[in-house]
Amino acid sequence: MSYDLARIRAEFPILSREVNGQPLAYLDSAASAQRPLAVIDAESYFYQHGYAAVHRGIHTLSAEATTAMEHVRSQAARFLNAGSADEIIFVKGTTEGINLVANCWGLSQLKAGDNVIITAMEHHANIVPWQMVAERTGAEIRVLPLTENGELDIDRLDGLIDSRSRLLAVTHVSNVLGTVNPVKALVAKAKAAGLVTLIDGAQAVMHDKVDVQDIDCDFYVFSGHKLYGPNGIGILYGRQALLEQMPPWMGGGAMIDTVVLPVGTTYGKSPWRFEAGTPNTGGIIGLGAAFAWIETLGLPAIKAHERSLMRYALDKLASVPDLIIYGPTERAGVIAFNLGKHHAYDVGSFLDQYGIAIRTGHHCAMPLMQHYGVPAMCRASFALYNSEEEADRLAAGLTRIQRLLG
Ligand code: PMP
Repeated sequence: MSYDLARIRAEFPILSREVNGQPLAYLDSAASAQRPLAVIDAESYFYQHGYAAVHRGIHTLSAEATTAMEHVRSQAARFLNAGSADEIIFVKGTTEGINLVANCWGLSQLKAGDNVIITAMEHHANIVPWQMVAERTGAEIRVLPLTENGELDIDRLDGLIDSRSRLLAVTHVSNVLGTVNPVKALVAKAKAAGLVTLIDGAQAVMHDKVDVQDIDCDFYVFSGHKLYGPNGIGILYGRQALLEQMPPWMGGGAMIDTVVLPVGTTYGKSPWRFEAGTPNTGGIIGLGAAFAWIETLGLPAIKAHERSLMRYALDKLASVPDLIIYGPTERAGVIAFNLGKHHAYDVGSFLDQYGIAIRTGHHCAMPLMQHYGVPAMCRASFALYNSEEEADRLAAGLTRIQRLLG
């Protein structure tokens, strides 16, 4: 089946709106992707016909909602090729997933003098939780640096690992540069030295098939809102053997076995042990719809469309005077740039006047900005619904801004 872009775009009503009198060119999907009607409708249907609190109810609606939620857990396991649905934990998003691992695994396992290895291209969500845990445990943070063109300097990894290294936490795809990291090779190296591994998949799962058993990582985490699903919901995959050993983080309803006073409460099994409180059931249902919808298109077709669009956009942008593009030539999803000496905010504001939505700022990756010696960058992201015409408009808009600002 050929990739019918017009038909796909028609499934995203928001893409046909105007912004500042211009047709919207939405190039900010790496921040939050838009949702197809299939996702919006699934959530709406659930609220109209199926909503009730899960787990604790004996009545039909509650039982149905519980079954629907557990079905999405199985869908998530299939999506990541996890060995079992019991390895899937519902979280608010990537941030909560990493904080969960930092608090449950990190606080219970790390000791003073241990070290955790992250990289210079991490999103703050994969930096700050480890710094917080390091502060509390006395562990050290080590940073794998980048090469000049924005790739991980993998040859330096061996020099960072020693007998006190406990964890490698690395992003699968950079949210700024689009660099696709060789996570399988990194995990193999880390595992050979006995490290636990966590992959931040927030910018990866929407671009290519992820197979956690093939990568062989211990934890993999992503957010629904970047996968054409709802915000406020995400997935943490954890290797069963590790999850079973991990103490819970948040206490409350749904995660216990028995509660006794004054002390002596026992906890339930994973994954429920890590899901205290009433979950975001509507978000879970919407995420399930997103998995199913993506499957109808197929990640290989999505990848092919995005790759060709990315090549096209890079080619077009090459003709914009004074445009500095950051990162490697092969990239997924995003193009980061600056226009001459102009501040990213100014460029982003002008583009907004032309109906083009991009992201500007430090992209929650301040260490990466420091690596390039800039305070901010512009970032255009290309998703499954973007077109060559939108890339043309971006290039034309930037050329015009450069002419106006000089
Ligand atoms: N990691 C990466 C690579 C990201 O791009 C993002 C979102 N910008 C996050 C983590 C955090 O995701 P969320 O805000 O959905 O928790």
